Amino acid sequence: MTGATRVVLATHNAHKVEELRRILGPDLGTLELTGYDGPEPVEDGSTFAENALIKGRAAARHTGLPAIADDSGIAVAALGGEPGIHSARYAGTRRSEDNVALLLERMTGVADRSAVFVCAAAAVLPDGTEHVVVAEWPGEVLAAPAGEGGFGYDPVFRPEGLAVSSAEISAAEKDAISHRRRAFAALLPWLHAHLD
Ligand code: IMP
Repeated sequence: MTGATRVVLATHNAHKVEELRRILGPDLGTLELTGYDGPEPVEDGSTFAENALIKGRAAARHTGLPAIADDSGIAVAALGGEPGIHSARYAGTRRSEDNVALLLERMTGVADRSAVFVCAAAAVLPDGTEHVVVAEWPGEVLAAPAGEGGFGYDPVFRPEGLAVSSAEISAAEKDAISHRRRAFAALLPWLHAHLD
């Protein structure tokens, strides 16, 4: 019988470790997620995938453990994919309300409201082997914020197939269908194949 395999999640945010444990649940099997408190790299990639790999490489190098990392955001078709990798700092203040207000302003009078939440999930092993997957959660940008749940752009994102915003569904419902769930669910088989 083999014991648990520790995998470091390249984030200083303890909530993100809890969130990912919740999202992946039993799919984690013998993989045990731990937090990371080492140096944070400059995220200067030009894609979600590059930024996720940059974070994963830094954590794997610093800890000597297998590392996973993610990078996410919202890409709006009519804005040429913006805010994209700049989602967290779109308005320059890092405040979600400001980001949402700027997005709605740029979408004023725009007919095509289609958008996707994007998540890149990366795995980097101590020997340098790496893998990254990118997943999308399609939907559209609403005309005004709705709902109190979620974070970031959730109040102005209506997922395809739902009549409400992603801030109006439960955390459990979001965890089951979000871009983050899709990306990490796609990454897990690779991790199991290399670590189990
Ligand atoms: P990250 O932490 O560098 O991946 O930045 C992600 C940013 O994208 C967040 O600050 C949010 O603005 C946005 N974002 C990513 N995922 C979501 C989501 O599930 N709901 C709402 N906003 C999100």
